[in-house]
Amino acid sequence: MTERVNGKVVTSGGVISQGCVEVQGERISAVAEYPSVRDGHWIVPGFVDIHSHGGGGHTFTTGDADQARAAAAFHLAHGTTSLLASLVSSPSELMRSATAALAPLVREGVLAGIHFEGPYLSAARCGAQNPQFLRDPATDELTELLKIGAGAIRMVTLAPERPGALEALELLVRHGVVAAIGHTDGTYEQTRAAVAAGATVGTHLFNGMRPIHHREPGPVVALLAAPTVICELVADGVHLHEGTLAFATSTAGPERCALVTDAMSAAGMPDGEYELGGQAVTVTAGVARLSHDGAIAGSTLTMDAALRGAVAAGIPVPDAARMAATTPALAVGLGDQVGALQAGLRADLVVLDDDLEVVRVMRAGAWVE
Ligand SMILES: [Zn+2]
Repeated sequence: MTERVNGKVVTSGGVISQGCVEVQGERISAVAEYPSVRDGHWIVPGFVDIHSHGGGGHTFTTGDADQARAAAAFHLAHGTTSLLASLVSSPSELMRSATAALAPLVREGVLAGIHFEGPYLSAARCGAQNPQFLRDPATDELTELLKIGAGAIRMVTLAPERPGALEALELLVRHGVVAAIGHTDGTYEQTRAAVAAGATVGTHLFNGMRPIHHREPGPVVALLAAPTVICELVADGVHLHEGTLAFATSTAGPERCALVTDAMSAAGMPDGEYELGGQAVTVTAGVARLSHDGAIAGSTLTMDAALRGAVAAGIPVPDAARMAATTPALAVGLGDQVGALQAGLRADLVVLDDDLEVVRVMRAGAWVE
């Protein structure tokens, strides 16, 4: 059975103002002009969020499969059709049990992979990461986790200045796992060395890293300037000033900037008390902060809100859609399966109204209830 979804279709080549996405089974069979139809709705590729800790009151960070399913369903309703489950710095035992619990969900397709944000991070730039669990990279620990994950671990964020970081990074690259640089107090040179060793993602650029200084440009400049690196950006109006978001995007281009939510369990939930990686978090007016020191503790974003945030910062809708789907899909090696409205790819799409609010979501050819 062929289904046609009509509207302003956002493709990698531009916008087809009267277009149609043709779906057969789970895949896109064609994207074409469809002049007989006038429909104001945008049709954008299903969002790919490569950095999320949970949402809808559910967290990935405890490694509970039922909570992970619920968090993925919450984000799916907001247009995220591919989602990495991001864990935070934890004891080795929890990393192993969480990997074992979530790997079956990756094989089932509920999750697009596991992302370890930590524990090999800088204490000086730990943000809301629990400092008591931070440690130097250990290749034996990583090797064991990769074995338990059996392909489910897709990305690991580490600080390149930690002793052993380059060895860990090379091990990840050898196993086809994306090495990301983040929560780092590293210098420009240390970051460049990590990029040369194969790191290809900058974790929430600007946040949790040494800021730019004109005599020590640090990780921000090194990552923005590296043609092989895709930079994550949190477009909630809190993590980054709109001017910073627009600057990064114009510097690296939408093909190297990925919108991420960095959402925690409080996304989509009322203000109140929550928890992240064993630390208390207070959410006030939608902003999540560690209760004891006020550090920003992830966001309460969903990807549709991130897209609206990027557009509010002056980024055109087609570029913002690329940053919400195509670029992150490529960042984690999924570009041949998802992330664009293109024949042959999985039929993941989001229908948005003129205010860029979600109207309908399709995943693998099926409308989400
Ligand atoms: Zn972080």
